[in-house]
Amino acid sequence: MLFDPYKRKINYLRISVTDRCNLRCRYCMPEEGIPLISHQDILTYEEILRIVRVFASQGISKVRLTGGEPLVRKGIVDFIARLSQIKEIKDLSLTTNGLLLKNLAEVLKQAGLKRVNISLDSLKRERFYQITRRDDFERVWKGIEEALKAGLAPIKINMVAIKGLNDDEIEDFARLTLRLPLTVRYIEYMPSGNGEEWKETDILTISQVQARLEKMGKLISIPSDRWGGPAKRFRFEGAPGEIGLIGAVSSHFCADCNRLRLTPDGKIRTCLFSDDEVDVKEIIRRGGSDEDLKARLLVALGAKPERHHINTHLFKKCQRNMSAIGG
Ligand code: SAM
Repeated sequence: MLFDPYKRKINYLRISVTDRCNLRCRYCMPEEGIPLISHQDILTYEEILRIVRVFASQGISKVRLTGGEPLVRKGIVDFIARLSQIKEIKDLSLTTNGLLLKNLAEVLKQAGLKRVNISLDSLKRERFYQITRRDDFERVWKGIEEALKAGLAPIKINMVAIKGLNDDEIEDFARLTLRLPLTVRYIEYMPSGNGEEWKETDILTISQVQARLEKMGKLISIPSDRWGGPAKRFRFEGAPGEIGLIGAVSSHFCADCNRLRLTPDGKIRTCLFSDDEVDVKEIIRRGGSDEDLKARLLVALGAKPERHHINTHLFKKCQRNMSAIGG
């Protein structure tokens, strides 16, 4: 088992397999994209598999693939099939914008993927276009339908709620849970990314969201499940779906943080909001051993910060874009 200096058990690795993305969400990226990591600097699948095997032998049992957009990376399905063979990994999931899910949902399931989180910030075609700069709402919705058919459950829809942008859709998203077995999760807008300037006043806090949802009906609280996670969970009476509230900014849940992140260029980050990184690619490419990798993992863990400093005078916006960290 892995523990950090604050006695938190670390069992979750989020892997950003690429910094490339097929959307240009305004709050995340500028229209022209961001400077990309060169192909040679991106970890090969073979390298990622080795890192996961070593980390899994030390106590990592949960892996999520993200990006960039993980489904744009060539060979992702075969990679997932190989990853799913690592017996210590009990939970293998993926975060996607859903654009390529329509044709991939079933094969991903066959490959051993357990579940998907799909990012969707609007249910209106025009609004989706305005936010993502791509007219692809229909494609994403078809992707969600295919994921439901394939049984990549529980399927979580992640909505970043931003004042003046999509906050009028809070109730529409919640209504999805009344007719579909989807978990709709509201996520607070975080100070990260190279998109349009983040302003604290743009955040819709989870308490504000919760107050609005409570006007729609009685919310029944659900205890955290086996794989935990930071969401406060609810359900409307009789609803097939669930609501999740993630107060990434207003209610930092650092005391329960169980995560590490691996960037596309092979750096371990122990906190989304800290630019301190520990290089593992360097070990692999100079012919280092698995023992060296384990030792480096412990160095990274030893430096995991106790908490992030958003909302305090110590906070500095992080240098890497979310797409190059793995949101
Ligand atoms: N392409 C995949 C996707 O769309 O889910 C995975 C990567 S994307 C960076 C992961 C998530 O980060 C998305 O749900 C996106 O909305 C979210 N995200 C990006 N910038 C954010 C910010 N400043 N605050 C909150 N969430 C953000």
